[in-house]
Amino acid sequence: MANQEDAFKKVVSHAKEYGFIFPSSEIYDGLGAVYDYGQLGIELKNNIKQYWWKSMVQYHENIVGIDSAIFMHPKIWKASGHVDAFNAPLIDNKDSKKRYRADVLIEDHIAKIEDKIKKEVEKAQKRFGDAFNKEQFVSTNPRVLEHQKKIDDITARYSECMNANDLEGLRQLILDLEIVCPISGTRNWTEVRQFNLMFATQMGSVSEGSDTIYLRPETAQGIFVNFLNVQKSGRMKIPFGIAQIGKAFRNEIVARQFIFRMREFEQMEMQFFVRPGEELEWFKYWKEERLKWHLALGIPAECYRYHDHEKLAHYANAATDIEFEFPFGFKELEGIHSRTNFDLSRHSEFSGKKLQYFDSELNENYTPYVIETSIGVDRTFLAIFSHGLKDEVLEDGSTRTVLSLPAVLAPYKAAILPLVKKDGLPEKAREIFDLLKYDFMVQYDEKDAIGRRYRRQDAIGTPYCITVDNETLEGQGVTVRERDTMKQERIPIENLRAYLHEHIQPIKVD
Ligand code: ATP
Repeated sequence: MANQEDAFKKVVSHAKEYGFIFPSSEIYDGLGAVYDYGQLGIELKNNIKQYWWKSMVQYHENIVGIDSAIFMHPKIWKASGHVDAFNAPLIDNKDSKKRYRADVLIEDHIAKIEDKIKKEVEKAQKRFGDAFNKEQFVSTNPRVLEHQKKIDDITARYSECMNANDLEGLRQLILDLEIVCPISGTRNWTEVRQFNLMFATQMGSVSEGSDTIYLRPETAQGIFVNFLNVQKSGRMKIPFGIAQIGKAFRNEIVARQFIFRMREFEQMEMQFFVRPGEELEWFKYWKEERLKWHLALGIPAECYRYHDHEKLAHYANAATDIEFEFPFGFKELEGIHSRTNFDLSRHSEFSGKKLQYFDSELNENYTPYVIETSIGVDRTFLAIFSHGLKDEVLEDGSTRTVLSLPAVLAPYKAAILPLVKKDGLPEKAREIFDLLKYDFMVQYDEKDAIGRRYRRQDAIGTPYCITVDNETLEGQGVTVRERDTMKQERIPIENLRAYLHEHIQPIKVD
């Protein structure tokens, strides 16, 4: 646990030190769970968004994108169910006066038991070495089975309470599990209450009547209310998808864990409209497709897992999360939901406009069913950033910090470094900067000794360092150093653009 905490602290401090992420309003002591992206953070974030956008919109002939407004008609949130049901169960500890989400307390408790299983597995793996059969071990070891039974029992009770909106049952579960407040260490809990997570603001004058506007808690509704506009103007045929990237806002109660849980964050969502009855096939398709998208980043498969939902949201008939092993354990990174025709039907009902599709092959009108894929930009950032950040001991015993980002996502693709700040090397290096800048984000740096400049580029994830030395002036090309292997090779200047294009390819999802 201490190691996990240290690793997480290192992620947060590294992100700040190198200009990736700053606490919002820092000189005023910050604003809870709100963060600003700095000069390098914005580049990585934009590259993540571009990877998602391309793989959804550009690589699929039947998916298009939109950018709907954050402010929407207030009735939308009535129709979607958010006004009445977008709640979190909260509970206070009477001694510390700290507020928690009852569901998160229980989920954290389950995660601790999962951790115990993981430790048993690791211990056995060490003991048995190559002969170790993990599947057999977890299905037969009595201690593991005992832990697993506990998890299953808690999960069953927890789902029952959540499905029945049984707040007293949730409280009783917290008491029975002897969950204590991490601050006060006591079990002196209040009742559990529901708390709506939407932020509200006013639009126009009060005399106009209904003037409460919500900051959207998800981008999806902007897609649903534009379903007909896009379908008709784009002559879209079912099955087809509409994608959107944009800000969402939630008044989160427990706002810790850095950019994992923010009050203002960004989502990348895609709603895929299908024929009624075909939704579960498409659900399966997108469930697999989305995992492929993650794996194409080159992060090992064991860092991801599916978590099928026991408790289904009021609109869903199947749901799964793709969870990622963050420095604080496995947590949701992306949600994939089969949302039935709930949203379109409700918007038809509340707006009085028929949101249907005429299927010329079936010669039939129907309300399409929807598969949603919904992923947080910030959580993806945290996953890629925390996985890529490593301290390495080199052959000569020295250490370096390296941020092994996929090259195409790295803020800078190359740094151009004159070996010394004289003899015409800076001028030559700037020529190379100008040669590359139209194709790639590149950085020019002449400060400090070359070794320190390499370390700095390693720490911000730059995949290539291009060093200009005296031989460059004699027409002998430049040295290109690769970040992860630290291997160096000599490349003629006229081949540099082609070299970088060849080595920094778009990520393909297949
Ligand atoms: P959680 O259970 O962790 O609160 P959720 O199930 O409410 O998440 P969804 O409503 O399915 O999340 O939202 C889709 C995605 O949006 C999530 O998978 C996550 O990546 C992202 N997301 C949701 N809430 C936040 C938040 N407060 N901060 C950052 N990202 C978020």
